[in-house]
Amino acid sequence: MKTNQSFGQTPVICPFCHSLHTHLLQTHQLTTQPNSTSVMAFSPMALANIGMQISKRMNLPPMLGGLTGLVVGGVVLLFLNHQKPINVLQYQCEQCQETFEMHGPS
Ligand SMILES: [Zn+2]
Repeated sequence: MKTNQSFGQTPVICPFCHSLHTHLLQTHQLTTQPNSTSVMAFSPMALANIGMQISKRMNLPPMLGGLTGLVVGGVVLLFLNHQKPINVLQYQCEQCQETFEMHGPS
């Protein structure tokens, strides 16, 4: 038994004419930069400040809230900086000659 269809490779369908006859032109990587404003809002120092304010209101030692804020801020910063680059696959349709991009796994 021999089939011409290759398994494991899903065919890329042209979004313009829905043709299955497409070929890969090139791949490039997109690295997403963390948004600077969100980094500022979630900076450990800003969160430490918020933590201290909350602690004061709840009659807890401000150091405790400040430390909690610092830890939370550090985790958030790690998460924001740990973004994977996105693989962008550029295809061309053999039927209508249109090019289109697909986002593949990195
Ligand atoms: Zn097409």
